Amino acid sequence: MSVVTRFAPSPTGNLHLGGARTALFNWLYARNQKGKFILRIEDTDKERSEQRFTDEILESLKWLGMDWDEGPHFQSQRTALYEAKVEQLLREGKAYRCYCTKEELDAKREAMMAAGKKAMYDRTCRERADGDPAKPHVVRYKTPLTGVTSFVDTLRGVVEVPNEELDDLIIRRTDGSVIYNFVVVVDDAEMGVTNVVRGDDHLANTPKQVNLYKGLGYAPPKFTHVSMILGPDKKRLSKRHGAEAVLEYRQAGFLPEAMVNMLARMGWGHGDQEVFSREELVSLFSIENLTLSPAVFDKEKLAWLNVQHIKRTPDQKLAEMALPLVLKKHPHATADGLLKVIPLLKERSRTLIEMADGADFYFIAEIAPDASAAKLLVPGNLPAIEGAVGIIEQSSEMAHDTLNTRFKELAQKLGKGMKDVAQPVRAALTGRTVSPGVFEMMELLGRDETLRRLKGSAEKMRG
Ligand code: GLU
Repeated sequence: MSVVTRFAPSPTGNLHLGGARTALFNWLYARNQKGKFILRIEDTDKERSEQRFTDEILESLKWLGMDWDEGPHFQSQRTALYEAKVEQLLREGKAYRCYCTKEELDAKREAMMAAGKKAMYDRTCRERADGDPAKPHVVRYKTPLTGVTSFVDTLRGVVEVPNEELDDLIIRRTDGSVIYNFVVVVDDAEMGVTNVVRGDDHLANTPKQVNLYKGLGYAPPKFTHVSMILGPDKKRLSKRHGAEAVLEYRQAGFLPEAMVNMLARMGWGHGDQEVFSREELVSLFSIENLTLSPAVFDKEKLAWLNVQHIKRTPDQKLAEMALPLVLKKHPHATADGLLKVIPLLKERSRTLIEMADGADFYFIAEIAPDASAAKLLVPGNLPAIEGAVGIIEQSSEMAHDTLNTRFKELAQKLGKGMKDVAQPVRAALTGRTVSPGVFEMMELLGRDETLRRLKGSAEKMRG
């Protein structure tokens, strides 16, 4: 039987790291097994579900490169199916209408808790035959009264719960809406899902779902519950630990490859390897190698992975990703132009933002010195700039290593260190004190543009 996995987010918020990781594990397993990955939007909660969250979730998955083979299915469009399944359970005597009012239930709950017992429905309506379906009611599932419900969790082994601890679960509310634990079973079964991988916050739901599988005559899938993601302080991940929504990382200049790598390493591993390409993850991923120990989200590690992935990404691809950022500042920038600058930036950029900023020198029309560059563009540094102009004018070619040699000679002649010459020249060339290598920039800008900039700056220094 071929593998079918799914990601089933509720569109009640942005896609966070935890959700993205759940999606990734399911996606990786489907791709590894050459199976199918389904996307299902669980929007039964009308109050809290919003279109903008659905859009944001889809956008995040696309950015991370998790393509789905089926869907998105929307639970809000599948009510007829759920209704038919509720009716089936009622007809077969596996579910019943419960007419107990909220006040009655509250009173019973309080009494039970006062007596030191676990608050559960006392099953008053379970065997009554006189109910009128026209009257307000919920539908409850008849959970077995004795025995145990068990399932195998791929990582935990057999998980058992005594049935007497399980309630007669409400599957349809008074207003006719159906609840998560019921529809998730109907959908997973009807969609042929073979493996459910999700957070261990769902561990308590699984026995309830296993009972529903039985009642509905379906075979349950294999379950895997992964541990929650914690911050470096071992507390549950929250806003305190930095951005939570996946797209905030795109905004901050992270590569999707770095993000996917980081997500995969939170709960999965392969020896002591840290850097994985998407292809490697697909070929190496296995559910057995997921770990039960809590996963830690470490921003420093993500930053490091981003550097590794920037180095490994083809220049062309980097240019495509950084171009939109460059265009914000330099509307005339082109992908071809940017492509020429990438080799100068690739080894020194930690994010795409840094890369786009680093490309400024290439696209500026005029030198606009920032405060620290302005401090260097003073008459005392004129000999260095004039010497630089002399070198360029006499150079027949603009190879950076040749320029390097010439500038060393210039520094010697001026009785200065190389840095004391290179920094003013950098400032004169770019208006900044931080940039790619001076001679690499000169080589890229070419003779004419280099001279135009140096002379322009020298002019202002004199004036
Ligand atoms: N909609 C549920 C959630 O977002 C799905 C849980 C599951 O995977 O079964 O938590």
